[in-house]
Amino acid sequence: MEYKVFENILDEYNSAGRLRHLPQALLAEGVTDFSSNDYLGLAERSDLTVEFLRQIKEPRFTSAASRLLALHQESYAALEAQLENDYGKPALLFNSGYHLNTGCVSAIGALPGTVIVSDKLVHASIIDGIRLSKAPFRRFRHNDVKSLRAELAKAAEEGERILLVVESIYSMDGDIAPLKDFVALKEEYPNLMLYVDEAHAVGVRGRFGLGVCEELDIIDKVDVIAGTFGKACSSVGAFAAVNQTLKVFLLNSSRSFIFSTALPPVNVQFTRFILSHIKAMNKERAHLAQISQRFRYGLETITHQKSVSSSQIVPLMAWSNEKALKISAKLREAGIIALPIRKPTVPAGTERIRFSLNASMDERDIDDVLNKIEHVL
Ligand code: PLP
Repeated sequence: MEYKVFENILDEYNSAGRLRHLPQALLAEGVTDFSSNDYLGLAERSDLTVEFLRQIKEPRFTSAASRLLALHQESYAALEAQLENDYGKPALLFNSGYHLNTGCVSAIGALPGTVIVSDKLVHASIIDGIRLSKAPFRRFRHNDVKSLRAELAKAAEEGERILLVVESIYSMDGDIAPLKDFVALKEEYPNLMLYVDEAHAVGVRGRFGLGVCEELDIIDKVDVIAGTFGKACSSVGAFAAVNQTLKVFLLNSSRSFIFSTALPPVNVQFTRFILSHIKAMNKERAHLAQISQRFRYGLETITHQKSVSSSQIVPLMAWSNEKALKISAKLREAGIIALPIRKPTVPAGTERIRFSLNASMDERDIDDVLNKIEHVL
């Protein structure tokens, strides 16, 4: 086998400063981590893990089959029932957010007559789902309703049904989609299906932590609410909250659901345990919102730039690969882990440092990081 072609590509990445490495063990005493998606700080809560393990009698670490063939369905059914109770519509579990988006978007998109319209900045898992669907596809300018309207008008000419795919909180900008405007467009386009990825909002937004759709009271107006458990829920897996017909359709046609071993039941039980705690974590949600606002304002004062974020994810724009790497390295020397985000995760020229805050931080942590940012810029 000749590996030269691979080496050449790696050389190209390297010269462009884009060669990725797995991070070394970064966390040490005195280091603050601004890179994790553990927005409620639950991954570090050993009290919760201990409480969970105490309740589990016979943990099963494998399902040993895909969901359609697994003999032990209890944990999945219980979590789906809990989600159905919370969201007021049936839910289907997936192994991860990546499985969820590739599986659902591709299955719906592959239906003859579907045209997919998405925000330009949607996550790679949605883009891969769109590619797999082979459906006609249009993108609108990020969070821009006018641009969306223009694309919808064209899409309506091209197909019978439009699948509009957006996120609620965008993972690299921390801004929030105008979801109410999107819902309103369903009046004009009766065959518009609205798909909202709430990966960064589950646990964090809404009275019960169900996400931005809960906060805006539009859960019943959204056709697919896509949520993940690997972020604020400190677990693994994902779900689609949909109507019953769509649930059965997805479990019959979503290839990532059908052709992958179901999550270990013990993980699913842990998710259910965590979700029941998260519901009551309003104090943590309010605290996270408050420190996020403090951080955003502080960053605006330092950079003299208005932050696009209105959430716990806050970018510090570097505008170049080199600058992003340099700022991140200097922050690391100062005890702050905040990773550079570069092409292809974000478009070239919009490189940034992504800060994600979590509820275990306090105002001193925020003032400390702002101080350090001011020094390294
Ligand atoms: N959707 C969005 C918006 C994400 O940011 C991510 C992960 O970063 C995913 C989906 C994928 O979720 P998971 O990590 O569970 O595969």
